[in-house]
Amino acid sequence: MAKRGNSIIKGIEIDEVIKLLNRAYADEWLAYYQYYIEEKVVTGIMSKSAVTELAEHAADELRHADMVANRIMQLGGTPLLNPKDWFTHTNCGYEEPKNFDVLAILDDAIKGEQCAISTYSNIAEITRDKDIVTYDIVSQILADEVEHEEDLQALYDDINDFVDQVKSTIKG
Ligand code: FE
Ligand code: FE
Ligand code: MG
Repeated sequence: MAKRGNSIIKGIEIDEVIKLLNRAYADEWLAYYQYYIEEKVVTGIMSKSAVTELAEHAADELRHADMVANRIMQLGGTPLLNPKDWFTHTNCGYEEPKNFDVLAILDDAIKGEQCAISTYSNIAEITRDKDIVTYDIVSQILADEVEHEEDLQALYDDINDFVDQVKSTIKG
């Protein structure tokens, strides 16, 4: 544990920060797996572009898990050691893909990103001016999650427009 590094944390209990980060850590692993498996099973119109996006996001979520784990270690905590704990600590849960159609998959993923944005903006508000280093890390992750939501929504809208065009062409 970084003694001087942790001595600059003021007005918030370090244990509280570790708890918040461990919940986010659980979210990141579940988000990683959700993207990982969605990328495998997704089908339908323009699903190739979805595959690229989902694979990129999976890699980002795993990188976030790493950033959060490293910060937990710096604070003197221990990242969750058992995957079973992901389900008891998660804020955003895990959405098992039931419908593999690209629009259904994107819809699940968008909801997950919206939850991640709420989670990180909450941690940012709690740590602002109190734990600058955690604040900086969660702000970086938050920016990625905002980009993720935007990428998925843009793709969703493109595919939806394309489907509408095809329908109106068929009708003549
Ligand atoms: Fe993430
Ligand atoms: Fe994300
Ligand atoms: Mg993206």
